[in-house]
Amino acid sequence: MRKSNEFPPVLLARKCPKDSHVWFVWCPYCRLEHSHSAEAGHRAAQCIAGPLKENGYLIALAGSAALRKFQKQLWRRVAKVPE
Ligand SMILES: [Zn+2]
Repeated sequence: MRKSNEFPPVLLARKCPKDSHVWFVWCPYCRLEHSHSAEAGHRAAQCIAGPLKENGYLIALAGSAALRKFQKQLWRRVAKVPE
């Protein structure tokens, strides 16, 4: 589980071409793709090591409504606007 105060980074997902239940996210730390269930949201990191391991990350498809929602939440957090 993630620490409460830290907003997790958003990794862009791509759909698995062979399995509609799977999305892939490119991890810049592991330098490979991690696979997750095909739904936007928070995931425990599948990282071998690196800074994402502790708190996990959010995944969303590029251009999706979920991605815009996460960006808005992050902006509110940064700008300290009440939710
Ligand atoms: Zn990783």
